[in-house]
Amino acid sequence: MNAYIQRVLEETREKNANEPEFLQTVEEVLTSLEPVVDRHPEYEKMALLERMVEPERVIEFRVVWEDDTGKVNVNRGYRVQFNSAIGPYKGGLRFHPSVNLSMMKFLGFEQTFKNSLTSLPIGGGKGGSDFNPRGRSDAEIMHFCQAFMTELYRHIGPDVDVPAGDLGVGGKEIGYLFGQYKRIRNAYENGVLTGKGLSYGGSFVRPEATGFGAVYYVAEVFRHEGDNFAGKTFALSGFGNVCWGAVTKITELGGKVVTISGPDGYVYDPEGITTKEKIDYLLEMRNSRRDRVQDYAEKFGVEFYPGEKPWGRPVDVVMPCATQNEVNLEDARKIVEAGVRYYIEVSNMPTTNEALKFLLGQEGMIVAPSKAVNAGGVSVSALEMSQNSMRYNWTPKEVDKKLKDIMCNIHDASAKAAEEYGFGYNLVAGANIAGFLKVAQAMIEQGLV
Ligand code: GLU
Repeated sequence: MNAYIQRVLEETREKNANEPEFLQTVEEVLTSLEPVVDRHPEYEKMALLERMVEPERVIEFRVVWEDDTGKVNVNRGYRVQFNSAIGPYKGGLRFHPSVNLSMMKFLGFEQTFKNSLTSLPIGGGKGGSDFNPRGRSDAEIMHFCQAFMTELYRHIGPDVDVPAGDLGVGGKEIGYLFGQYKRIRNAYENGVLTGKGLSYGGSFVRPEATGFGAVYYVAEVFRHEGDNFAGKTFALSGFGNVCWGAVTKITELGGKVVTISGPDGYVYDPEGITTKEKIDYLLEMRNSRRDRVQDYAEKFGVEFYPGEKPWGRPVDVVMPCATQNEVNLEDARKIVEAGVRYYIEVSNMPTTNEALKFLLGQEGMIVAPSKAVNAGGVSVSALEMSQNSMRYNWTPKEVDKKLKDIMCNIHDASAKAAEEYGFGYNLVAGANIAGFLKVAQAMIEQGLV
């Protein structure tokens, strides 16, 4: 191991001992940068890696709001402004009880590389709260969003930091957040948030973008392998927005999704989630805020496996779309035993480092990393920012075409970087290297900041 990387890893472990997810992503990324750092001794002189693993700014705040029963609730809000070398901070807001500083920092760090890969001018950031939307009414969601924005507004802006959705934050929440921002600022700065509704500055294809983008990426992998979607089976996890977009596009291209999952377990539908009724039902489940997939099994009379994950089903393609660390070493072994050929990460860091290493070591298996595969969402967010600046909207067709081109570029740039630095067709190392190089270059040119 390169001595400089080794030292930065040790220092990072020491400084962030209580942040396991953050350390996990730093280890994953830095270890694939070895040949790059070997070629660039100037990085060490400029403490480039030390600067990259230190967020530019971390904001933590109190959020106070009243629920429908009149009870006063206190949550913790976060915004981690990780890196602004190539553009304003950009990244989603996550509302989930598991949100903590470690998670925000891991997501902000990943976002920096992901956003760089898109080739669009956006830096990396992430935010959210430990607020739990499960079972909350619309009024409660609105009151929480207003309270959250009452502090967040002073830290963001169209040229400063542009939040968007993530787990627990969809179009509805973005609407409430934007309404409050506009009220406080007394200005119609709709470039301050992305994922907005079409009636007030949203972009066509933004709701579908992460799922569609992931499938466009898979199409590039298939092209590389001389393969295609026809008749292929897919095991997905999750049932939210990203999963819905992916199921829609996979079905359109002739593939068949046979599993989805939730915190309660997973569903196996041997006929596939291929009809409009079934695909629309995913949206209904999400809108109900019940956070369970057993409802799908009951509605369509298929098997539900309580407390289990869908890994181990014999399918052609596995796409984890739920959350971080949903595939550990044991799951990865099951995936390999089931004869899966394509392992395509979609949710952020769904694979533990151990499991990822194991999968990358399997002959004939193709592994693709989330920071590349799910970058379609933030890419269309950046296109939404462009449209807001121009005060003009592209058609759905135009946005979809740009999304496709961006995903194709991400795949090609990753494959090329991996090849150039001696990794062969390793899309994981390639994404880290390609994402890193642009940020590194910008940081060096901007001096010691
Ligand atoms: N939360 C999404 C992501 O992780 C979208 C971020 C955005 O659109 O800014 O990339």
